[in-house]
Amino acid sequence: LLCVRDMSMRYGKTQVLNQIDLDIHKGEVVVVIGPSGSGKSTLVRCLNGLENPFEGTIQLNGAPYDARNHEQWSQLRNQIGMVFQDYSLFPHLNVLKNMTLAPVLREKYTEDEAERIALELLERVQLRHKASSMPAQLSGGQQQRVAIVRALAMCPEIMLFDEPTSALDPEIVGEVLAVMKELVSQGMTMIVVTHEMSFAREVADKVVFMDKGEILEAASPERLFDYPQHERVKNFLGKIL
Ligand code: ATP
Ligand code: MG
Repeated sequence: LLCVRDMSMRYGKTQVLNQIDLDIHKGEVVVVIGPSGSGKSTLVRCLNGLENPFEGTIQLNGAPYDARNHEQWSQLRNQIGMVFQDYSLFPHLNVLKNMTLAPVLREKYTEDEAERIALELLERVQLRHKASSMPAQLSGGQQQRVAIVRALAMCPEIMLFDEPTSALDPEIVGEVLAVMKELVSQGMTMIVVTHEMSFAREVADKVVFMDKGEILEAASPERLFDYPQHERVKNFLGKIL
């Protein structure tokens, strides 16, 4: 489904991503772990077209995307949903407007269609009654559930999550993970940056360990967690498990 080759990216002189290769098949869940500053956020931001320019190629369903071609990029972004650590809802728009803005602006759906889809999605995360609330009136977990369904409202082929639960109180982490697990069970293709190891063990098809802008090791969760090959990975796991 998604095929990344030789992706490199630098901020000034700092090489932040160094020749990343990554393949994701339809319905797969890839979990990305690694130390702070290793380039995890930069990787998912590149995939979502938030970081430009970078070197290398991205193909979605066999179609190549050129970072310099604006048309191609907006097409790619329409098919990739993104959820950030800090919810990033538009604070001045109510929940429903947050959800219908992108689909309507990017002419994916009419206002009426977008609204119907938004309400259905809110129902799925038990937040339909909050449709006219402002983001500030919701708890962190509720905001993050809205952020997830907001991304889903574009009907993306792939969802990217960048530490979606790390800003949440421990007792509400579960409600967000539950929504993500439901997505997995529905066959959504996902790339998730997270240090929730039980989540990774339960749902990941592949765990990717990043260090200094490179993919140091990639394997099934069982292999990577129980039999890490690199000292660096062992060390890291020793600290967080
Ligand atoms: P964390 O676990 O802390 O979120 P990360 O793996 O997501 O870390 P990135 O945010 O991708 O790491 O950052 C990778 C490197 O790029 C870091 O060395 C960081 O300092 C650098 N970096 C990130 N954003 C910028 C920026 N806007 N300008 C310059 N350097 C940046
Ligand atoms: Mg990050």
